[in-house]
Amino acid sequence: MIAFLRPNCTLKDRADVIGRVEAAGLAVRIEQIDRREALALVGASAEALGTDLAEHPAVLEIKRLPVPYELVSRALQSERTTVHVGSVAIGGGAPPVVIAGPCSVETEAQVNTTAEAVAAAGAQLLRGGAFKPRTSPYSFQGLGHAGLELLAAAGRRVGLPTVTEVVASEDVELVAEKCDVLQIGARNMQNFRLLEAAGRAGRPVLLKRGMMSTIEELLLAAEYLLAAGNPDVILCERGIRTFEPTTRNTLDIAAIPVLQERTHLPVIADPSHACGVARLVAPLSRAALAAGADGLIVEVHPRPEEALSDGPQALLPEQFAALMACVPLAAACAR
Ligand code: PEP
Ligand code: MN
Repeated sequence: MIAFLRPNCTLKDRADVIGRVEAAGLAVRIEQIDRREALALVGASAEALGTDLAEHPAVLEIKRLPVPYELVSRALQSERTTVHVGSVAIGGGAPPVVIAGPCSVETEAQVNTTAEAVAAAGAQLLRGGAFKPRTSPYSFQGLGHAGLELLAAAGRRVGLPTVTEVVASEDVELVAEKCDVLQIGARNMQNFRLLEAAGRAGRPVLLKRGMMSTIEELLLAAEYLLAAGNPDVILCERGIRTFEPTTRNTLDIAAIPVLQERTHLPVIADPSHACGVARLVAPLSRAALAAGADGLIVEVHPRPEEALSDGPQALLPEQFAALMACVPLAAACAR
């Protein structure tokens, strides 16, 4: 809800309104909306507070936002958010950012070789899973803590910030200590306690769309992160499950411009998990950038046939370098 303030209200009345927002346990957010001063009332007690404030002398009108995801919506913030990771800017009109690396960190040599190759090709962030959310309990589950250390060391060696998935609330602190961006994967998009913990972690979060989640559910999952105090959230379209079995998932290209309309947060695409096969990664990457994605996250492996997870969709370093060469032109199509 939004409480528009009367432009000529007394300072005392204005202070009284702000005091009531604080007393209701809500953060005080004063915004300029349609060139008018407005107090954003966001939180569980907003509804009751809005009703109370409707007759207040400092309040011109109370308006309900047209969407339930208030903090991530453009209604409260029209300018786009730029998420900064080290010296890398993501979103907000910055040139597209490419995050690349193996699905899983497997060995020191594998992650270092991949890190060197993706850095040389121009990737701005290094990805690699240490805690893997696998469908089968018998599949490789990741190296855990050792994997985090190897990823962090590889990132330092090549000068790239790191992105890694966190699958459990109790690991958030440790992952936040070792890596620069916390990834919340498709399978955990609606793990609300994990979202709250990641929202408090003090690190940017890469939030992937659930394979069976709607755009609105993705935005509400992001709302959990912002409501927990984390403004640095990057959304990722990674394909949804449809009736089409040819590709692993179906990249929902329309979700990219729809998300760009609805939220100020950066939106990137994951062509690797969307299609599941290396030869389709480049065309999907170009399509996503042309549709307005702020970046890509791509899986790369020096020997895909030996990969312990997601080998069929991993690009070889030279395939990744060829993809990088297309990025500026594909992104230019979005302007
Ligand atoms: C991954 O990035 O390796 C991953 C498991 O992705 P998703 O959560 O999108 O399936
Ligand atoms: Mn993967």
